[in-house]
Amino acid sequence: MSKNGKRGSVLVIGGGISGLTAAVEAAEAGAEVIIVEKEAFLGGRVARSNLYFPKMCPPTCGLEINLRRVKTNPRIRVFTLAEVDSISGTAGNFKVVIRRHPRFVNEKCTMCGACAQVCPVERPNAFNLGLDKTKAIYLPFEMAYPARFVVDPATCLGAERCGQCVTACPYGAVDLAMGPETVEVEVGAVIWATGWAPPDAAKFEGLGFGLYPNVLTNVMVERLTAPNGPTKGRLTRPSDGGPIRSVAFVQCAGSRDENYYRYCSGVCCLASLKQARYIREQYPDAKIYVFYIDIRAPGRMEDFFTATKADPHLVLIKGKVAKISEDTATRSLTVEAEDTLTGTKVVETVDLVVLATGMVPNGIGKTRVAGELVLDEHGFLAPVQPMQGMFAAGVAKRPVDVASANRDATGAALKALQHLSAE
Ligand SMILES: Cc1cc2nc3c(=O)[nH]c(=O)nc-3n(C[C@H](O)[C@H](O)[C@H](O)COP(=O)(O)OP(=O)(O)OC[C@H]3O[C@@H](n4cnc5c(N)ncnc54)[C@H](O)[C@@H]3O)c2cc1C
Repeated sequence: MSKNGKRGSVLVIGGGISGLTAAVEAAEAGAEVIIVEKEAFLGGRVARSNLYFPKMCPPTCGLEINLRRVKTNPRIRVFTLAEVDSISGTAGNFKVVIRRHPRFVNEKCTMCGACAQVCPVERPNAFNLGLDKTKAIYLPFEMAYPARFVVDPATCLGAERCGQCVTACPYGAVDLAMGPETVEVEVGAVIWATGWAPPDAAKFEGLGFGLYPNVLTNVMVERLTAPNGPTKGRLTRPSDGGPIRSVAFVQCAGSRDENYYRYCSGVCCLASLKQARYIREQYPDAKIYVFYIDIRAPGRMEDFFTATKADPHLVLIKGKVAKISEDTATRSLTVEAEDTLTGTKVVETVDLVVLATGMVPNGIGKTRVAGELVLDEHGFLAPVQPMQGMFAAGVAKRPVDVASANRDATGAALKALQHLSAE
């Protein structure tokens, strides 16, 4: 394979677990790899979780290994805060234009935090889904790679720049004059690993998200139970900070639903069972209700389901939730469903509701591709692309858990390599 950026190169779009896996597998097999990630850090959605099922280990366990492989492999180039503007040409000889947004902090940053201490402006912390704030100059999270602060231009540069961070930095790392850059590369194959985003739960009629403070989504619960989250991991009732004595998990919130997303995201049942364990750890006596259509715990995940449902205070109710209402005085929530096993109406009043929302594909973003790229009816990239040399991996292709995303990404790397060596 040729060196640096020609026919032997693979472009990986998206630096989540799928993109990282595809990148290290391709690079360790000899290819030059370029990762383009739109955020300021690698790791994607997995970096934002508290613990992973089924092992219940923190995201650091899987990510750290991959990040180390990325950092130590000279064949991998990483562009964060970057997006692919266009891809032209054909397999084996794609021409790629990458747009890099400025970080305003250079490689001299030691993460000492002196800049953030003096910064007078705050912004919603996107990493924590806006549940807390950071300064306009911030570290996305403590394990972030690149291990460097970043300036949010919408907050800092939109107001009058004070430059206090520049003065406070003892290393000369803050450079507010940085501008955008365009980089052009040639690659032989492209792997789309653009992953997913949570849906806007406020549009799910009758479920009360955005109306009632004690209705949360599953992604919020991941942040609210994470030790590096906005509450340092302590989950309480959002309305008053009180303890959780009862919680209802609402499965298939917006999923398997003709009105919203018809597909099953495949992970939400296991995510709720995992989150039931978070609740149990913090509240040994809390009553936990799981309203479900079917519990989907394929293969060896069945053991995880069996172990979780052994909890004597966990009640599984087979029925899709029709309505959630709030008692305005107590802020408690009433959940109504029909139990399809008994044919009776079930009404439970709880302190907290968690909506088990699914994964919505990010697709190909704003990238212009000179050739036909096929997305399925839900916006996931079709597994077989008519364009030679284009592959998808992980949730960009279909909703999957991390283990499946890793297998998928390894397969995508292999396909990219086969393609390159065939040139
Ligand atoms: C509530 C919940 C809990 C979950 N818990 C678990 C669990 O415990 N265990 C488990 O195995 N799975 C879990 N999952 C599933 C897990 O989150 C996914 O399997 C995993 O995120 C897939 O990784 P990915 O790299 O495909 O996508 P992502 O994690 O979404 O990564 C995609 C990356 O691509 C970047 N990107 C997107 N578009 C572009 C673009 N145009 N240009 C450049 N970069 C781009 C994104 O910024 C991101 O970094 C959970 C899912 C949910 C909804």
